[in-house]
Amino acid sequence: GISRKLAVVGARGVGKSSLTARYTQEKFLDSYYPTIENQFSKDVTIDKKLYNLEILDTAGQDEYSMMNDKHLIGIHGYILIYSVTSRSSFELISTIREKIVDSIIPLSDGDSVDIPFVIVGNKTDLNALRQVPTTEGEELGKKFNCPFIEVSAKDNINVDKCFKLVLTTVNKFIDPP
Ligand code: GDP
Ligand code: MG
Repeated sequence: GISRKLAVVGARGVGKSSLTARYTQEKFLDSYYPTIENQFSKDVTIDKKLYNLEILDTAGQDEYSMMNDKHLIGIHGYILIYSVTSRSSFELISTIREKIVDSIIPLSDGDSVDIPFVIVGNKTDLNALRQVPTTEGEELGKKFNCPFIEVSAKDNINVDKCFKLVLTTVNKFIDPP
């Protein structure tokens, strides 16, 4: 299979672990272990090609302890995730993205860098608590020229579609059309 390494980054509590567990283990996490970081694998066939995914479920972003080299080396694409119920988590997306870009530029021999990002708004099942309208997610995607999708890890809405979108986005960077 084709190896693809992805990192899920975003504020604490937005559902990084829940999204990863839903996708790789087909289960939902009710409990909350904010500081645990883990890597999961999954084999998936998309457009008749087999991919061996490694998904790094990161922890601790809102403490600015993130983005050591472990989070950068060998990563093909990033899922920038926020919760639609948390405006501050949405605002953190831009900061995290900038941090990743700034960290990768020095490693890139001065060439311009293109890094595949997909912006993901989670917890759409909590519509009554929504603080970030869909249109704002779409606008941020346009601003950063990257795809945007809303999901619910809890209700398993758009989760497969989300990872498929990440893979096709990564593939566009690796094999430009
Ligand atoms: P992380 O810190 O980003 O890894 O967040 P977690 O995956 O640990 O989730 C934090 C909390 O949000 C947990 O209590 C989860 O059960 C809950 N959660 C995660 N995703 C969803 C979702 O799609 N809908 C709802 N209602 N709760 C969610
Ligand atoms: Mg977590």
